[in-house]
Amino acid sequence: MTVSIDMEKCIGCMRCVDECPTEAIYLEQTTLHVRGKCTDCGLCYSNCPTEAITNLSPDRSDHMQ
Ligand code: SF4
Ligand code: SF4
Repeated sequence: MTVSIDMEKCIGCMRCVDECPTEAIYLEQTTLHVRGKCTDCGLCYSNCPTEAITNLSPDRSDHMQ
């Protein structure tokens, strides 16, 4: 389970980093990365104001863009 972050859409609000319960999202220099601890809780992409985050899990294809 993982998510993908589109840095073209990201405005750097850091909401996803703050909301992620497993600290799976982290900022490195100016780019957000996702490491392997994502539990697919949905908090990051449901709270992202610009819909920059996409869930890549196959059973959540409704979130794909
Ligand atoms: S919540 Fe969305 S806009 Fe905010 S830092 Fe995360 S990816 Fe970027
Ligand atoms: S879906 Fe949940 S666990 Fe996965 S990166 Fe987003 S906030 Fe973190």
